[in-house]
Amino acid sequence: MGKKPTPATPSSRDRHKSATPMMAQYLDIKDGVPDALLFYRMGDFYELFFEDAVNASKALDITLTKRGQHLGEDIPMCGVPFHAYETYLAKLIKAGFKVAICEQMEDPAEAKKRGSKAVVRRDIVRVVTPGTVTEDALLDARSNNYLCALALQRGGDEAALARADISTGEISVHVTNRSDFVAAMAALQPKELIAPDAELARGWIDEGGAAAPGTAITPTAATQFDSTAGQRIVMEAYGVASLEAFGDFSRVECGALGALLNYITLTQAGRAPALQSPKQLETGGAMAIDAATRACLELTHTQKGERRGSLLWAIDRTMTGAGARLLGARLSAPLTNPAAINGRLDAVDYFVRNQTIGVDIRTVLAKTPDIARALTRLSLERGGPRDLLSICDGLENAQTTNVLLSQTSDIAPRPNDVTNAENALWSANGAAFTSLIAKLRAALREAPPMLARDGNFVREGYDAALDELRSLRDQSRKIIAALEARYREDTGIKSLKAKHNNVLGYFLEAPAAHGEKLLSAPFNETFIHRQTLANSVRFTTGELAALDSKISRAGEEASVRELKIFDDLVASVLAAREPILAAAAALAEIDVATALGNLAIERFYVRPTIETDLRFDVKGGRHPVVERALVEGDGSPFVANDCALFEENRPLLWLVTGPNMAGKSTILRQNALIAILAQAGAFVPAESAAIGVVDRVFARVGAADDLARGRSTFMVEMVETAAILNQATSRSLVVLDEVGRGTSTFDGMSIAWAAVEHLHEEIGCRGLFATHYHELTALSAGLNNLRNVSMKVREWKGDVIFLHEVAQGPADRSYGVAVARLAGMPKTVLARAEGVLKMLETQRATGAPIEDLPLFASSHQPSADTDAAHPVFDELDALNPDSVTPKQALDLLYKLKSMAQAD
Ligand code: ATP
Repeated sequence: MGKKPTPATPSSRDRHKSATPMMAQYLDIKDGVPDALLFYRMGDFYELFFEDAVNASKALDITLTKRGQHLGEDIPMCGVPFHAYETYLAKLIKAGFKVAICEQMEDPAEAKKRGSKAVVRRDIVRVVTPGTVTEDALLDARSNNYLCALALQRGGDEAALARADISTGEISVHVTNRSDFVAAMAALQPKELIAPDAELARGWIDEGGAAAPGTAITPTAATQFDSTAGQRIVMEAYGVASLEAFGDFSRVECGALGALLNYITLTQAGRAPALQSPKQLETGGAMAIDAATRACLELTHTQKGERRGSLLWAIDRTMTGAGARLLGARLSAPLTNPAAINGRLDAVDYFVRNQTIGVDIRTVLAKTPDIARALTRLSLERGGPRDLLSICDGLENAQTTNVLLSQTSDIAPRPNDVTNAENALWSANGAAFTSLIAKLRAALREAPPMLARDGNFVREGYDAALDELRSLRDQSRKIIAALEARYREDTGIKSLKAKHNNVLGYFLEAPAAHGEKLLSAPFNETFIHRQTLANSVRFTTGELAALDSKISRAGEEASVRELKIFDDLVASVLAAREPILAAAAALAEIDVATALGNLAIERFYVRPTIETDLRFDVKGGRHPVVERALVEGDGSPFVANDCALFEENRPLLWLVTGPNMAGKSTILRQNALIAILAQAGAFVPAESAAIGVVDRVFARVGAADDLARGRSTFMVEMVETAAILNQATSRSLVVLDEVGRGTSTFDGMSIAWAAVEHLHEEIGCRGLFATHYHELTALSAGLNNLRNVSMKVREWKGDVIFLHEVAQGPADRSYGVAVARLAGMPKTVLARAEGVLKMLETQRATGAPIEDLPLFASSHQPSADTDAAHPVFDELDALNPDSVTPKQALDLLYKLKSMAQAD
C-alpha cells in the first residue's frame, strides 16, 4: 500500500475553503513566510502544521500528531513547549531551517470579548535565521556569528561585501573582487550570506567554493540590492541626512549595506538591533588567506573541525568571549598596513612591560560579562533583567580596568591603542556610565531572573509605588493566614488550610471526613462549596473571595509596575548604546592585548619587526602548536630553527629535503604561522623575527583527497597549486609541502620541478618547498635564489634519530625504510624493501629500464644483500642442533645476540 502524501500547506486560493477561523489565520500568516517553519503560538506551545510539522518532527525527532481536518485531509501537527523552545530552535537552525516565531499579541480573554469564536490576534515577531540569532544558547561565546550580503556591480566584475554580527553590533563593508571575495568568505566563515537571486551571483558564490558548507545562502530579489534604496535605508537606520560621516561609500557598497540592514529589519520584524556605525574597510587591507591555506595551517580549527590543536587554541589566553572573538577575527584577517600592525604590537608590548597591571586587568576581565550580546538582546526586546545586570557589571569592570590602566602612566608611554581604549572604557563617558550604573545597581536585585515576566527583580526601596503594591499583596497574605486561624477556631477543624492554585485562586481545604460538617448548618452559611476531591473538600467564603481578588489585583499591578520599571531601565541603557558598545569593544581589545602579553611572557614570544621590504628573517623560530603539544605532552623540548628567505635584497625559495618525520612540514608551517601572527599584531614564537609585509599566504599539502567535492587526490593538488601559481605576487609567502606526490614519480616530479621554476622565475616570492624528489635539489645550480636545506638526522645502530634541525644543503637520502622500521613494519617486509631499494638504485645508476626489475618476486626470499649476508646466518648454518649441550646452546644464544647488536 502506497504511503499517503503529506498534505501540502494549502495554496491561497484554497485557503479559506472549509478552514476554521484559527486555521484561516494560520494560513494567512504562513503565507508571509513561505521559506520558514512557522512556530505558531498556542498557549504554552509553539505548534507547527502541514509540511512544517512533518519537516520539524523529523529534524527534532518529536511525535507527529494531527489536529482536525482541512479540505478533507488530516492536518499534520507537532509542537514544542514554549518554555524550552530555544533547544528546539537551535537544532532547527543548525539543520539549516529558518524559523518564523508567531506570538499571541493579546490576552485570550480580550479575544473572547469579541465573541466566543473570535481568534486571538497573532503576529510574527521575528524570523530566526542562522545569521540573525541572538540567544546565548544559539551562539558560540567565543566566535562571531556573521551575516553577510553580496551586492554586484552592473557587469559583475566588482562587488561589495557587507557583514554584520548582530549579536555584537559590528557592521562593515568593503569593495571586493572575485579572489578577495573567496578569501573574505574564508576569513569570516559567515553563518548566512544574502545574495541576489541571479545567475551572476551564483557564479561568484560557486567559483572557488566561496561559501563554506556551514554558510546558508539566502537568495534575495535583485531589487533589494538597489544602491539608491540602500543609501536611504542606511541613512534612515542611523538617523543621518548623509552618509559622509561614516565614509565615502560607493554605490555598490550602499547596495550591500542596504540589503543587509533591510534583511535585519525584516527578520527582526521592525526592531532595530544596537549596531555600531558602519565601517568602510580598505580592500587589500587584510592579508589574503584562501580557504585551502586556512585549512592547511589550521588557523582557527583543525582539519577535523576542532578548536583544540589549531593556532588559535595554542595562543588564546583571552578571558572573555568578546576577547576570544576579536583574537579569532584578527588571526583570520591579519593586516597589511605596517602602522596598524605596529599599533597592535605596541599595545601588546605595553603589557609585556607592565606585567603586574596586565595580571590585575586579567583578573577583572575574568568576571566581565558579554556586554555587547546583552545589549543586542535588550535592543531587540529579547533581553531580561540578567542582561541589564550584565551591562551594569560590565561597565563597572570597564571603570576598574580604566583605573588600572591609568596607574601605568608614569611607568611607560602609553600606546595609541591603549589610550583609545582607555577613552572608550570610561574617560569619554564616565559621567553617563556612573549614573547608569548607579541606577541599575539601585534597581536590580542581586541574582535577577533571566526573563522580566518572572518578576521580583526590582529591589525594595527603588520604587515607592511598587513597594506599596507588594506590601498590599504581602499584607493580604498575612490577613489570609489570620483568616485561616479564625476559621479553624470557629469550626474546630484543626486541619483546615488556606491554599492557592491558579484555577481556584485562594480556597480553604478540609479533609473529606470534615466536608459534611462544613456543608451543613450553621457553617454552610459561611462556607461555599467549590470542589470535592478524593480526600478533601474545598470551600471559599465571601471574605476569602474578596481578599483573593484584592491580592491578585495587587499582584498583577505589581507585575505591571515592575515591567514598566524594566522598560525604563532598558530605555536608559539603550540611550547610551553607542558608548556602551564602544566600551565593550575596548574591553575586548584590552583583553586581546593583555592575553598576548601574557603568552609572550610565559612562552617566550618576541615582538616581530614589521618591514616594508621583502625581508623574512626568523631566528630561533618555533611552531606554536607543536610546541604547546610537546609542553603539554611528554615535556620534550621543541628544536628552534632559523629561516632566512631574503638575501642581498632578493627573496629566496627554500627547497627542504629530509626523511619522513624529520620535521619538514613543521618548519614550513611554522614560518607561515609566524608571518600570520606577526601581521595579526601578536608576538611570535622565535628569538627574533623581521617580516616584510606579506600580501598573501599560500599553504598546500600535496595529496589530500576531497572526495566529497568529487575531486581525486591529484586533481585537488593540481587545482590548488594552479591557484597559487596564478595568484601569488612577489610579496606573497608560498609554502608547498610535497606537491606532485599524488601521481607517478616522473609526472609528479616534473610538475614540482616546473612549479619551483615558476615561483622562482616568474613570481619571485618568498617560499618554502618541501619535497621527497631529491632530483629537485639539482635545480639550485641554475636558480640563483633557490637554497637547498635539509632536516638533519643521525643514524645509530641502523635506526634514524631525528634532530629536527635545519642544515644548509640537500639531504643525502630519504631514510624511508628506516622510518618504516621505527613504525614497527614486519621484519620480512623491511628486508624486502631494502633489497628492492638497492636494486632500484643500481638500476638507475646503470640506466637499466625499470621493467627489468624483479619487483614482484617473492618477498620471502632473503635477499643476497640483506639477511643471507649477515654473519648470524653463517653461524646458524654451521650449527647442528642435535650435537650441542644445553650450556653450549645458551652460550650460542648470547653470542648471536651480541653479533646482532654489533651490527
Ligand atoms: P613527512 O615527510 O612524513 O610528512 P615531515 O618531515 O614533514 O614528515 P613533520 O610532520 O614536520 O615531519 O614532523 C614529524 C613530528 O616530529 C612532529 O609531529 C613533531 O612531533 C616532531 N617535530 C617536528 N619538528 C620538530 C622540532 N623542530 N622540534 C621538536 N619536534 C619536532
